[in-house]
Amino acid sequence: MIDLRSDTVTKPDDAMRDAAREADVGDDVYGEDPTVNELEERAADLVGKEAALYVPTGTMGNQIAVREHTERGQEVLADRESHVVKWELGGMAQHAAVQVRMVDGERGVPSADQVEAGYVAEDLHRPETGLLCLENTHNARGGLAIEPARIAEAASAARERDVAVHLDGARVFNAATALDVDVTDVTRHVDSVMFCLSKGLGAPVGSMLAGDADFVERARRTRKLFGGGMRQAGIIADPGLQALENVDDLEADHENARLLASGLDDVAGLSAPEPETNIVVVDVAGTGLDVESVLERLREHDVLATAFGPTTIRCCTHRDVSREDVERAVEQVAGALV
Ligand SMILES: *Cc1c(COP(=O)(O)O)cnc(C)c1O
Repeated sequence: MIDLRSDTVTKPDDAMRDAAREADVGDDVYGEDPTVNELEERAADLVGKEAALYVPTGTMGNQIAVREHTERGQEVLADRESHVVKWELGGMAQHAAVQVRMVDGERGVPSADQVEAGYVAEDLHRPETGLLCLENTHNARGGLAIEPARIAEAASAARERDVAVHLDGARVFNAATALDVDVTDVTRHVDSVMFCLSKGLGAPVGSMLAGDADFVERARRTRKLFGGGMRQAGIIADPGLQALENVDDLEADHENARLLASGLDDVAGLSAPEPETNIVVVDVAGTGLDVESVLERLREHDVLATAFGPTTIRCCTHRDVSREDVERAVEQVAGALV
């Protein structure tokens, strides 16, 4: 099987398994796990923030951030295609008791004008805008690498109004790699950032939530509240430290994604524009088949992908897919659709 469903399917490599075995551990709820502490320091440094918190999942990281930045009854501004709006079970309403004002941002990022138009000042009748959520890379818009200037524009429009800014940077290292900028060029504009260790970087579990020291201290309490206070977590945090060494490998995933897209684009009935990062969106309308039938045929030919839109599927490249796998996947897909 060539598994292109997601970059979350990567399995820990030998270095990560060794790291887990050798990890120096303690009770992290007491702050006594040296490996978790090291991971939190390294992660904070990498994204240029004062502190960071190790969380089990990206979803928990985003949900903690929303809860910490907002007051009950406020409003959160976010792109209508963003993960925090579409794929987190309405968690903002459940965990933070806020409502969402959706924006249709160009490439998934609200412009300064959209932030201004979407901003709500508190009065007797209206909720106040408490947070702007951004996303980079933008997953549901096709793994778009959002330029730092766009993040800066949206963030400064929010901050002018005293609105905090959180970045869902699940794949922010993919964005920085694709744009050939330092990740801090993206993260410097936001108050907090979440990024996943468990996606392209290859860790078995875990994400990081970074921000200023006071924010992270409060986030630590909320992590406990959400059931995320872990004990000898060094055993999973050490593979996370290994994952931080994998940032430079993301370029290979992007190259493989471009190769995959150009190969699939040549298959009759398929259309695949050049991807910006590791997410390839393929329009299958020209095959005359519906998305589920295409996915089923691919599965029969040892290729796994996921549904994306009404006529599109998503193929994601990652550490466990080689250039040869990509070449074989193209052949298999061509064979599956004749
Ligand atoms: C995967 C993802 C998340 C959530 O991460 P989990 O670890 O799966 O909870 C959040 N935002 C984006 C953009 C993602 O792609």
